[in-house]
Parts: sequence; C-alpha cells; structure tokens
Amino acid sequence: MADCIFCKIINREIPARIVYEDEKILAFDDIRPQAPVHTLIIPKEHFSSLKEADESRAELLGYILLKAREIAALKGIEASGFRIVLNTGPDSGQEVFHLHFHLLGGRQLGWPPG
Ligand code: 5GP
Ligand code: ZN
Repeated sequence: MADCIFCKIINREIPARIVYEDEKILAFDDIRPQAPVHTLIIPKEHFSSLKEADESRAELLGYILLKAREIAALKGIEASGFRIVLNTGPDSGQEVFHLHFHLLGGRQLGWPPG
C-alpha cells in the first residue's frame, strides 16, 4: 500500500534495523523500543489488523507466531522469556494499520500491561 509506513520498510523506502526476512514476513527493531528487545514482525502482504483476517490467513498467522519464537532465539531471549503483542483497534492503542506483532523481552515485563 502506497502510504503505509511498514510497506515502505518492506520496500526499503524507509530504513529499519532488519532482524529477519523471508518470502512471507519481515522482522525489524521498533523505532521506540519499550524493552531491551522490541522487534516488530509483519507479513509482507498488507492488511490492516486482525479484524481484516479470515481463515484464508490462518496459515500465515500461525507461521508468524512460530517464526516469532525463532526470532526470540535470534535475539537471545528464548530462554529468559518474551511476550508477543498484537494490538487491534482503538482501545489497544494500535497506531500503524499494517498488521504487526510486537516481540518484547530482555527484562521482567509487568502484568497487567498498561
Ligand atoms: P502499534 O501501536 O500500532 O501496535 O505499534 C506501532 C509500533 O510501530 C510502535 O511501537 C512504533 O514505535 C513503531 N513504529 C512506528 N513507526 C516506525 C518506523 O518508522 N520504524 C520502526 N522501526 N518502527 C516504527
Ligand atoms: Zn502496509
């Protein structure tokens, strides 16, 4: 999508610290990290949020979750633990409308989240 910031990162129109890439997904560090490790994992296919996902995306969503665990290992937080966050809709604070999973770790994370 032309004016989507994450599509621009996929297309290398905006720089990012890329952690992992394959034909389906891209992972890059968040520009405003909320933890020592804060990486965003996105599908290369643009869709705005979980609300736009139906069963045709079940495989892709499962793939992202399994890759998130691998990316946690790449980031050195597989053993210490991590959290995966998928903000959806106004109350969640979702700001970027290209579906993305946050991978957070590297410190003790508070619960409940703010
Ligand atoms: P949301 O609130 O939509 O779940 O999360 C959006 C995330 O994208 C935020 O954590 C924000 O810091 C991050 N972000 C926004 N713009 C950019 C950018 O241009 N580059 C990177 N690397 N992260 C961004
Ligand atoms: Zn996009």
